Amino acid sequence: MTDKKYVIAMDQGTTSSRAILFNKAGEMVSVVQREYRQIYPQPGWVEHDPMDIWSTQMGVTMEAMQKIDAKPEEIAAIGITNQRETTVVWDAATGHPVYNAIVWQCRRTSGMIDQMKADGWTDAIRQKTGLIPDAYFSASKIAWILDHVPGVRERAERGELRFGTVDSWLIWNLTDGRAHVTDRTNASRTMLFDIHQCEWDEEILRYFHIPRSMLPTVLPSSGLFGTTTRFGGEILIAGVAGDQQAALFGQCGFAAGEVKTTYGTGGFMLMNTGEDAILSRQGLLTTIAASVGDTVQYALEGSVFIVGAAIQWLRDEMRMIKSSPQSEEYCRNVPDAGGMYIVPTFSGMGAPYWQQDARGMIVGLTRGISKDHFIRATVESLAYQTHDLLRAMTEEAHLSLSGLKVDGGASANNFLMQFQADISDVTIIRPRCIETTALGAAYLAGLAVGYWKDLEEVSANWQCGQTFTPHMDPDKRNKLLHGWRRAVDCAIYWAKEDRNGDEYV
Ligand code: ADP
Repeated sequence: MTDKKYVIAMDQGTTSSRAILFNKAGEMVSVVQREYRQIYPQPGWVEHDPMDIWSTQMGVTMEAMQKIDAKPEEIAAIGITNQRETTVVWDAATGHPVYNAIVWQCRRTSGMIDQMKADGWTDAIRQKTGLIPDAYFSASKIAWILDHVPGVRERAERGELRFGTVDSWLIWNLTDGRAHVTDRTNASRTMLFDIHQCEWDEEILRYFHIPRSMLPTVLPSSGLFGTTTRFGGEILIAGVAGDQQAALFGQCGFAAGEVKTTYGTGGFMLMNTGEDAILSRQGLLTTIAASVGDTVQYALEGSVFIVGAAIQWLRDEMRMIKSSPQSEEYCRNVPDAGGMYIVPTFSGMGAPYWQQDARGMIVGLTRGISKDHFIRATVESLAYQTHDLLRAMTEEAHLSLSGLKVDGGASANNFLMQFQADISDVTIIRPRCIETTALGAAYLAGLAVGYWKDLEEVSANWQCGQTFTPHMDPDKRNKLLHGWRRAVDCAIYWAKEDRNGDEYV
């Protein structure tokens, strides 16, 4: 046991770096956050300067400590959670990046992935890595840097370069180059990692011509990653997980059947499937979950591209509301959406539909439709999309749900949460602390060093903010869901027409 006061969570996200100090009760005692530069060199390309990532993360951590005058000797450990898949390559001798970080959103390597699929790799990738070949993951991003930055391939082959996801990059810097490590959850998003053997896959590395010497050592998510002296004393780095896996852990989703869903700009649902790596037939990803101890736990993951972004659309483009929270009062002005559905698939549909050409759809307009109905139909669409993911997951995993744990900005909307409970016929559980990502990283680190004794002690910290229990009549639910299915079909039909222009006569 340790009598130290705090655990630091470094939460390195896509648009900002944050540091949070947690106490033993799992309460936030200090938070500092800073946005940093997004670089868009061409349409569809997204980069970050790795030095911005590092300097903002250092800056916010120091400030968060200073704010409450926390000394290094009062810190039990550091936990890191990070934007996943984003790729950094640097020189082992100097620590200088050879190129900007290529961000997960960046589509520059989609041609490489089309080639990979044409080469017949789709099944092998799914079997080995649990993923669907996509430019989103790190593998093709590393290959792009090796192929396009002058001199870099030769340096990599001489063993002079290191690759890392953002967690590795931060740990390398925090330990002054002593540790080149990552955790299993981050490794499982590179599309280079065999999630069953738990090791880098030589065949895939060969396909992308990536030298093995560039890759970090992969460690369990809770354990010793290194020691930093950057804060004026020694602090252990003892927990690492990618953001979505950290959130599942922070929601205390330790057991098979636990599900969390995040209502952020987009939506991410993860279901813990225990020691079974379930291969999805409905386009969900199989990935490694954060866990303590050596046993590997798996999760199914599905995402919805447009969730809170649809509310921002109401605010910024439709100019129907002044703020996102205001959407809730409009929803309550009407008893239902008046038979109207909005399918906000502005940029294609993710799981379980996977229609990349789909666009948004509005159906069921009548003369009586008002702004209230329009807003309500948009808010309801968040719940319908989440429902589709949830149904796919429970079908694939054959697991019964104990409840759906929620977090993210739009989970603050009580109308939405009740509607979700009603439509999915499941109890929605919203924790008091919705900073679950950072909390998950803190728990992983704190458990490794004995700051928290075990999972029971951590679970005892978990405080429910509010639950929403279903009470919609089953006939009504089925009718609403049937309407939603038809609206989705319309959106898919519209996309198909576009591809086969001559079909329409
Ligand atoms: P991210 O981490 O993806 O930036 P957040 O978890 O901070 O996202 O959530 C922000 C999103 O939540 C925004 O898209 C915003 O429109 C939406 N949002 C915030 N509050 C509400 C609310 N009360 N009702 C509906 N949507 C909301």
